[in-house]
Amino acid sequence: MRVRFWGTRGSIATPGPDTNHFGGNTSCVELTTAGGDLLVFDCGTGAHRLAAALMAQGKKAIHTNILLGHTHWDHIQGFPFFGPAFVKGNSAAIYGPEGSRGSLHDVLAGQMEFTYFPIELNQLPATITYHDLTEGIRIIGGARVATQFLNHPAMTVGYRVEADGVAMVYLVDHEPFSDVLWRAGAEPGRVESILHDGDRRHARFMADADFVVHDAQYTPEEYASKKTWGHSTYDYVVQMAAAAGVRQLALTHHDPGHDDHFIADIERKARALALELGTGLDVFCAYEGCELFLEPRSSLKPFVSAAPFQASVAQRRFHILVVDDQPDMLTLIARALEEDQYQVRKAASGAEALRMIDEYLPDLVVLDYRMAGMDGLAVTKTLRARPETRSLPVLMLTAMTDEPSTRAGFDAGVSDYVTKPFSIPQLTARVRACLARTQMP
Ligand SMILES: [Zn+2]
Ligand SMILES: [Zn+2]
Repeated sequence: MRVRFWGTRGSIATPGPDTNHFGGNTSCVELTTAGGDLLVFDCGTGAHRLAAALMAQGKKAIHTNILLGHTHWDHIQGFPFFGPAFVKGNSAAIYGPEGSRGSLHDVLAGQMEFTYFPIELNQLPATITYHDLTEGIRIIGGARVATQFLNHPAMTVGYRVEADGVAMVYLVDHEPFSDVLWRAGAEPGRVESILHDGDRRHARFMADADFVVHDAQYTPEEYASKKTWGHSTYDYVVQMAAAAGVRQLALTHHDPGHDDHFIADIERKARALALELGTGLDVFCAYEGCELFLEPRSSLKPFVSAAPFQASVAQRRFHILVVDDQPDMLTLIARALEEDQYQVRKAASGAEALRMIDEYLPDLVVLDYRMAGMDGLAVTKTLRARPETRSLPVLMLTAMTDEPSTRAGFDAGVSDYVTKPFSIPQLTARVRACLARTQMP
């Protein structure tokens, strides 16, 4: 398997003398299997030069699989300049997360509307197919590809590709689920010791991988003021990858404000941390033009998903109960979910919520932790004790980010634990991830 970086920058392209080494183009990574399958992760501005390289090979027909983590600009802006799409006889299969505001096709067509671009998406001569994804496992060419949701203020998936006896994982645009990584009293550095279910699931997704490409836009110092923006720090990523037994790690989605010196410094610190952790993890900061050959290994264990199904959220109608004793917050959340086309009901206390659930079982409960009277924890425990609501998904909202509160939430049986202050796009993405994981009735 061959991997090549064409774009390593996050958010916005930053060409110039200060970014010459690590590169100024936004996210784009090429993967070619031994069997000749071409998988392209993200289509940021780096895709333009990849396209030129593909065209220069002079092949009769180019078939590309484009795997979009999400559809923020820095991940799709190169697509209108992806040369192979302009040639009849070529084909492209585009994969990406099912969005809450329209299909993958509609979102990509949006950036090519006449106002923004002279050629519309449907006028491209190549044969293009669109594949809206949730979580699951599928076969693309000769590769087995698993998807899992990331934590970002938009529906975003990570990809795990297993082919040629190698596992390569692409996790770009993701931030930690919790401020605290390890459960108190548990041995740090082990996947089982991770506090938040979301982070543990994230570590399992990259377990035993030969190569992981991960967002590491910020330093720990910068992250303090950039929470909910959807990006990671190098120390979180290195600790996670080391715990997961990853062999090689590329940090990417470099901040547009970081010049080559700054990124080289991040690389030094990340390496020192990896060395200290002592798992043999090899870490570097991805740079444009960086090319790797991953050798097959007989011990590769295929990733097993907890629920290997692909259930569309868009094609189902969901009922959500929002429970909060603060009227402003209740209205804000309910309105945001209604905009995402859910049927929303509201309860102003824990007792009212339980009454309403008795009357009418929702698909998901969005529940505030701290409420006067019966708090969110007590509501969750009551739900878990009843057979009919034992597996009802509960998304807990809380200002309490400390270890004991987070642990108490998961011990009580919450499905997800979202800490305040959260952004509405982040919350709606987490709601959607919860719903995508609910079984079809
Ligand atoms: Zn991005
Ligand atoms: Zn993004």
